[in-house]
Amino acid sequence: MPIECSTGCHKNAVLKRPKTGDALCKDCFFWVFEEEVHHTITAAKLFTPDDYVAIAASGGKDSTVLAYIMKLLNDRYNYGLKLVLLSVDEGITGYRDDSLETVKRNEQQYSIPLKIVSYDELYGWTMDRIVEQIGLKNNCTFCGVFRRQALDRGATLLKVDKIVTGHNADDIAETVIMNILRGDIARLQRCTAIVTASEGTIPRSKPFKYTYEKEIVMYAYFKKLDYFSTECIYSPNAYRGYARAFLKDLEKIRATSIIDVIHSGECFSVRDGVKLPTQGICEQCGHVSSQPVCKACVLLEGLNKGKPRLGLGKTSKIREHLKRNDENLAGVEASDADTDKINIPKTINIKQLDF
Ligand code: SF4
Ligand code: ZN
Repeated sequence: MPIECSTGCHKNAVLKRPKTGDALCKDCFFWVFEEEVHHTITAAKLFTPDDYVAIAASGGKDSTVLAYIMKLLNDRYNYGLKLVLLSVDEGITGYRDDSLETVKRNEQQYSIPLKIVSYDELYGWTMDRIVEQIGLKNNCTFCGVFRRQALDRGATLLKVDKIVTGHNADDIAETVIMNILRGDIARLQRCTAIVTASEGTIPRSKPFKYTYEKEIVMYAYFKKLDYFSTECIYSPNAYRGYARAFLKDLEKIRATSIIDVIHSGECFSVRDGVKLPTQGICEQCGHVSSQPVCKACVLLEGLNKGKPRLGLGKTSKIREHLKRNDENLAGVEASDADTDKINIPKTINIKQLDF
């Protein structure tokens, strides 16, 4: 016996909403999903009329639904935004090249222009080549740091006012848990913010902050959106995988766990007197950094010097090592064996998941 849509529209329900448990027909689900995102956007005043907004687009489900819904809401509610898709090509053969084909189709389907920036043109390295150097253990550290900066650089090139990303509620809850487990107070403090902006940077916001991943998948499925669903060939990062599995277990016991964790993250405050990193400008590339030289420049320096692992420790220590190494090796041909002579920090600080 079919169940009627709980809104009273008299159509048959086709799904049970993960967020509320309501039985809904397709049209009512589309409506509540879109209206919730609209509410998030307006309540947080994410945009002002005439904003030029870059949608970070990877071709995956989150960013594809984001592009679709940004266009839909912009038209429905006259936000007055000028939209552009901004993609980063990490140079991962068999993965990113295919997903970028999806974004190119989205460009046509949604009539939103597309700009692609690549690691190759920005850094002179592709992820394929980085993985050749570093292997499959810390590749996501390089990729995450470079991607964050590449998006900023692309946005600066386009002269946009704002960037939106497809991070959803599940992503944010996972990040809260990861930052607690790592004791990363600075990131814990800012990872639940719907807008992140520091002086000299283009503000980034997350219109899907309260949107469940399961509902994004349902929306994409019922709307028959064209997205790319294959995982990166260089493997998803293991640490986030554990946080994700933990959250999924919690959700089985308590359906509101995701929103509860986000709420907890929002309520954390750091007591006075705790020293937090201050944001400055990288003395090498001019991008925002809490160190004299940003992580992207440090990682790049390690790669270019043939010592990619040096970039994986604490930034200040790495700088010291590189400096000492330069002095020690003055006039000597660098070789891989030199790396062994350097006291590489044993604790590796993997922080690629920086929102
Ligand atoms: Fe980059 Fe790692 Fe994500 Fe692959 S899984 S795209 S290497 S961050
Ligand atoms: Zn830099």
